[in-house]
Amino acid sequence: MHLVLLLATLMSSSLALSRMPKDDDPVIVVGGGLAGLSAAIEIVNQGGKVILIDSQKDVGGNSAKASSGINGCGTAAQKIMKIDDSTDKFYADTMSAGDRENNPALVDTLVHDSAESVQFLIDHGVNLMDINLCGGHSVPRTHWIPSPKEGKPSPVGVTIIRALKQKLLDLQAANPDAVTIKLETEVYGLVTWNDYITGVNTVHGGPKREEINGKAVILATGGYSNDHEKDSLLAEFAPKMIKFPTTNGPFAKGSGVKIARAMGAQLVDMQYVQVHPTAFIDPAQPTDRTKFLAAEALRGKGALLLNDKGVRFGNELGRRDYLTERILEDCALDKEANAKVAYMVMNEEAVQGFGPPAFNFYWKIKKFFTLARCRIFDLIYHSHTLRTFRSSLSSTHSLPTPHAAIGSKCSRPDFGEKNRRRRRCLCISLAILPFSPKFHQRQPVNFAFVDYYWLTIAPPCRHF
Ligand SMILES: Cc1cc2nc3c(=O)[nH]c(=O)nc-3n(C[C@H](O)[C@H](O)[C@H](O)COP(=O)(O)OP(=O)(O)OC[C@H]3O[C@@H](n4cnc5c(N)ncnc54)[C@H](O)[C@@H]3O)c2cc1C
Repeated sequence: MHLVLLLATLMSSSLALSRMPKDDDPVIVVGGGLAGLSAAIEIVNQGGKVILIDSQKDVGGNSAKASSGINGCGTAAQKIMKIDDSTDKFYADTMSAGDRENNPALVDTLVHDSAESVQFLIDHGVNLMDINLCGGHSVPRTHWIPSPKEGKPSPVGVTIIRALKQKLLDLQAANPDAVTIKLETEVYGLVTWNDYITGVNTVHGGPKREEINGKAVILATGGYSNDHEKDSLLAEFAPKMIKFPTTNGPFAKGSGVKIARAMGAQLVDMQYVQVHPTAFIDPAQPTDRTKFLAAEALRGKGALLLNDKGVRFGNELGRRDYLTERILEDCALDKEANAKVAYMVMNEEAVQGFGPPAFNFYWKIKKFFTLARCRIFDLIYHSHTLRTFRSSLSSTHSLPTPHAAIGSKCSRPDFGEKNRRRRRCLCISLAILPFSPKFHQRQPVNFAFVDYYWLTIAPPCRHF
């Protein structure tokens, strides 16, 4: 009797597993970042049904953390801003940034579809009409939201995710049958029908397991820059990168890659893990292994990087691997953070360009920046600064890299007339930093005659 029951159970479960998918079954999208949300919306727009699954309390993933913008060429914003760009230039920049090891077909898709992708987001209500020059690009093409001068900041990643999530909820409200969203549901395996992947195995807040079936599965589970599990992809493919802290959320552990691999998928380019040159050190938790990104847009808007001797050591808008290398070579170890760090300096103009509300989040709320008023200028004063500055005053554009010392060899703060003069010279010295022919790439940032600026220390961080 027991045997009969057992067989009946086995037969019914195997029948359920091998059910041929129907045309009106849903497509299952695993991951609710930008990739997953865009796929889900497109499925419904094409008349299909979707089940969107994410392991977290809300959608967003690393996409919600994006803070510098999205690259595109031939966009409406570029036309309005009269930026002379082309798919050929974008292609050449991208291939060169990848040392020509890129997959040309993927780069081709990127450059030709980028304008349409930016427009997709604009059509969903994201105002991507400002453009930054970011590292590795020969012209400005990183689209982000124009910085409000006051009020609430509009971080680009969060705004994009909110808009797409709202769109999906609107589609669900209009047709509840077409959209199912399952949060706090982790996919740990795939279900097959013959040679096709048609479903997923999930756990949802505890030991309870559920099989969810559809007609196809899209894995949009993001990267593995926070994968410290026993079968870590980082350890396997990029062991040298493990020493860096990461900017990624805890969900970025490559589970989608591992699930697909277990079903026989071939992995490519797994060794290409990117390090971003600048992250913030949280003063409350300096050795924390997860760090907040110091967005490239800060440098795009004029932040300068100096080493502990006050020397500008690289082109702030150079490639990320180049700038990281320079920090590891030319900057000193910060003992508290246990990492090599650059000093990031911003003046009023750069802060205004970045947008005070967004900057205030870093400065006032997260306390990543110090406002270096006159006192700090005195503290970072070093006589070498003046000597370098004076010797270079006679020339204009062929100035040597000037110095603005930060660190141990400081004169004691003294707020007399003498130090006010020194401060002014240091300000002028900062003013000529960007003119250094060795590193010049963009319009110089004008540091002249300011008596305050913002300062933070920034170590490189594993990014994606
Ligand atoms: C701090 C930071 C700033 C960045 N800034 C920029 C920028 O300005 N411009 C830019 O172009 N790029 C930026 N990037 C990179 C960019 O964010 C990523 O390339 C992009 O977000 C990847 O999108 P995605 O949808 O593939 O993955 P994600 O957005 O990471 O989404 C993956 C989702 O899958 C879910 N998931 C994972 N595993 C499972 C599972 N087993 N079951 C269920 N759900 C699962 C996760 O919870 C997550 O929500 C930044 C990255 C970081 C970390």
